[in-house]
Amino acid sequence: MSERSPLDRCPGLLRPFVADDGALVRLRMPGGRVAVSVLREVVEIAAAHGAPVVQVTSRGNLQLRALPNPLPLAVIEAVEATGLLPSASHERVRNILAAPLARDLDPLVASFDAALRAEPRLAQLPGRFLFAISDASASVLSERWDVAYQQTSERSGTLYAGRLGREVAPAHAVRAMVDVALRFVETAPDGAWNVCDLPSDSPVFEGLEPSTAVAAAPLVPGVVGTDLVAGVPLGMLTLQHVEALAEAADEVVITPWRSLVVPSGAARVESLRSAGLVTEPEGPWARISACVGAPSCRRTTVPTLDLARSAAETVASRRLTATQDVHVVGCERRCGTGASDRVLVAPPTVDDVVAALTTTVPTATAATRGEQ
Ligand code: SF4
Repeated sequence: MSERSPLDRCPGLLRPFVADDGALVRLRMPGGRVAVSVLREVVEIAAAHGAPVVQVTSRGNLQLRALPNPLPLAVIEAVEATGLLPSASHERVRNILAAPLARDLDPLVASFDAALRAEPRLAQLPGRFLFAISDASASVLSERWDVAYQQTSERSGTLYAGRLGREVAPAHAVRAMVDVALRFVETAPDGAWNVCDLPSDSPVFEGLEPSTAVAAAPLVPGVVGTDLVAGVPLGMLTLQHVEALAEAADEVVITPWRSLVVPSGAARVESLRSAGLVTEPEGPWARISACVGAPSCRRTTVPTLDLARSAAETVASRRLTATQDVHVVGCERRCGTGASDRVLVAPPTVDDVVAALTTTVPTATAATRGEQ
């Protein structure tokens, strides 16, 4: 594969995307685990230089937006000081999901991240290329990954690339995932961004047999054992949220579903709810998400976030029951669409969004294009 085309616009710290509201920076969080103190630093950097919130994206990454363009050196240095940029060359390819409740996977995630960064050729992976690592729970296998590894016991697991796979022992999982990614970099034709873009006889699939990963449903807000899955309303993490999280835990796990797993957070439900996080699966805030829309994005005039907020407040005030996961977008690019979301493209009114949240009338879904 030739050097990655400039059309690969997935942003990073060192290569921001310039939106209508300013520069946008995305920080990768392999496996999602992050110290709350680091989250606080990131929110403070955002507030000091741009929008006073940090977006939690549909790939479990963090985004700062409305930053000055060009990006001041002070922002780059402040983010580097948090430790979230261990590799300048590979920052945009460290897209690694991991089952958020499976802490046993931490060493595997860390080993794979290190192996990814240690291989210079993998800096050429597209920013859209996604890895997923799960355990027997099959969590995160619901997402649109390119290469996945599911460890099913101490000595067994399966490597997947698209709808193909083969048995791989955990001790060899890192090497196996790196090898598939290398074959993609070396053989994928121009214009292929993901495994699903490859022809069936691609060398990427060598040695793999038809094998479809069985995926678990995304985690929803609520208590899981002693932990808490806390939803982040519209994916916008605030300083108030982070301050409440700091009272509850030293570290949290960012999920690809605009939520955070708070270890032992079941004992802190009230304070986290009071801070504005979503702590129950029922209710509109657990069901609705939106792309950033107008005025931040030049592709639409639809204020998607305002529509979503108004719809959630309307559902709550009318005591309606939210029955559907709805993602509001401003255009057909459908940024941030989750794998199981119903998508509303440029809904004209708040009532349209309310209706989609509270009825079972089918609404179009489509493949995720951009990450938000
Ligand atoms: S879906 Fe369209 S309007 Fe929304 S952020 Fe993406 S490009 Fe912009």
